[in-house]
Amino acid sequence: MAEEKKSSCATCSSTTCSAKNKHANENDEQFAARRQIAENLCKIKHKVIVMSGKGGVGKSSVAVNIAMALAMDGKNVGLLDIDLHGPSVPTMFGLTDGKISVSENNRFIPITFGGLKIMSVGFFLPDRDDAIIWRGPLKHAMIQQFFKDVDWGTLDYLIIDSPPGTGDELLSLVNTVEDLTGAVLVTTPQEVAAADVRKSVTFCEKANVKVLGIVENMSGYACPHCGEVSQIFKIGAGQKIAEKYGFPLLGKIPIDPAIGESGDNGVPFVYMQSKSASAKEIESITNKMVAICEKKD
Ligand code: ADP
Repeated sequence: MAEEKKSSCATCSSTTCSAKNKHANENDEQFAARRQIAENLCKIKHKVIVMSGKGGVGKSSVAVNIAMALAMDGKNVGLLDIDLHGPSVPTMFGLTDGKISVSENNRFIPITFGGLKIMSVGFFLPDRDDAIIWRGPLKHAMIQQFFKDVDWGTLDYLIIDSPPGTGDELLSLVNTVEDLTGAVLVTTPQEVAAADVRKSVTFCEKANVKVLGIVENMSGYACPHCGEVSQIFKIGAGQKIAEKYGFPLLGKIPIDPAIGESGDNGVPFVYMQSKSASAKEIESITNKMVAICEKKD
């Protein structure tokens, strides 16, 4: 468990922190904002982004269940949903009416579920059916706010559910969070999905983000009666990508009707069916990710 850090930027003894000194091109307000972000990030040990080349491959489901599995393991965990155009985290926790409260010192307080601290852009939208047009600078400001103004406290892990693809939000994220631990890439077994995940790989290379591993989701079909997994697609694209680039294959999650149901019912699958074979696979994926994240500690 993470120990409570008492230091703040004012008292921190780090000589290498980029928030130590004001940049020549920033005013006092910008410097204060950057410091506030650095101070917040300093208390979060591992920041892991969950990415996918395209939508619908189960990226949010993987992010939600990894975060929940970590929290169930007794770790201090936050889950941040930065999918500004289609936040699905509130639905997956049954929090579509969730309202964010503000602390005495004007910080946003995440909503908790089973010890997990959850923050989503969805909590700030007045009407969830509204189509909001997010322009680049507004997106960047919103993403910065998640790190500047949210009271995350001290965390072992912050799992970040990103939008599909490699758009503005990801760029803002890598510019705001200098010390991302790495990325988990989610794909389905088909070749078309793999073509898109390669773009995520290129993004990570360019942004200097370590790929922690690949999750092949919807990998075969788990029979709801006997649990046997049938291979319904020919190509193990996640495995191929992992082999091609030398990334760890963290695991393969089958299509399991219970995973879909739990997402719709607002209770994370690993929380609801922790003893099932698919939940054990998600647990194993989480443990492998933890081992990779903590290797350099
Ligand atoms: P993405 O974030 O990539 O758009 P989601 O996580 O929202 O994808 O998943 C899309 C849909 O597929 C959701 O309804 C989700 O419950 C379902 N789903 C995801 N993974 C699985 C799985 N392994 N088995 C069954 N349904 C799944």
